[in-house]
Amino acid sequence: MIERELNFEGTSPILYLIPTPIGNLSEWSPRILSLVEEADFVAAEDTRNASSLLSHFNLKKATISCHEHNEEEAGAKIVELLKEGKKVVYMSDAGYPGISDPGERLVRRCLGEGIKVSVASGPSAFANALVVSGLSTKHFHFEGFLPAKESERTARLHQLIKNEDTLIFYEAPHRILKTLIAMAATLGDRKAALCRELTKAHEEIIRGSLSELALLPEESLRGEMVIVVEGYFNHEEIDDQTIAFALKEQLEYGLRGKEAVKRVCETLDVKKNRVYEIYLKTFER
Ligand code: SAM
Repeated sequence: MIERELNFEGTSPILYLIPTPIGNLSEWSPRILSLVEEADFVAAEDTRNASSLLSHFNLKKATISCHEHNEEEAGAKIVELLKEGKKVVYMSDAGYPGISDPGERLVRRCLGEGIKVSVASGPSAFANALVVSGLSTKHFHFEGFLPAKESERTARLHQLIKNEDTLIFYEAPHRILKTLIAMAATLGDRKAALCRELTKAHEEIIRGSLSELALLPEESLRGEMVIVVEGYFNHEEIDDQTIAFALKEQLEYGLRGKEAVKRVCETLDVKKNRVYEIYLKTFER
């Protein structure tokens, strides 16, 4: 039999997940402020960041550190406090806990201990980026961060080639160009949007094809970024320029002519004769 209890009624303890601003502090809503105000403890991914956010709002709270590496022990402490009747909220550094941030294990632990979990609404970088991208919002796939290791990143991108949903990635500024190049070479030169510094004073949405975005000056790509990429489309419509770009990437990567042609046929799913012709025309003159 499934046990049911409304989140805001009944007697079971409840953990509140609190999204934090992704840049603009005024996005901390009155509801969030009152949930934090009422809390006995603020558990946070980084207690220093949490404390400076709290002090901006003149809130002074006891904090508990709960991050990726101590989620197990910190989770046990949080459960104990909640069972004692204390009010605990949990927040990560930016956006929603649990979205490319710690929180998932804490939620599962609480649920396993009969503790209810509720979440206040707030900003998350992926949702902001998707809706301003200009790409389809009907179906989307949130990927978060790709692996940092090149071979693993390429392998993961390969798995995403045929995904028809709009793809959403998080990326650190020092890897952004490499990632855009890898995406153009693997996914094909699709439409994309680079959403930079969302909600902050220098918010910028740069729309173009992946290869165009990969040519942007590195020094102009500072701050936090989300990459939104068009989903898989009919590859017979891929233009010659995209194929030439993908070939160039493979040749620069060190593959020989025939190997590069084979790799591009596989990744872009286009006929070998066509890729070979473009190779001869572009690189064998
Ligand atoms: N939990 C967060 C959320 O719900 O969006 C994500 C945290 S993840 C560790 C950090 C990544 O989110 C950054 O590397 C960047 O890709 C993205 N991000 C966070 N704030 C952003 C902003 N203001 N503008 C663009 N991207 C942002």
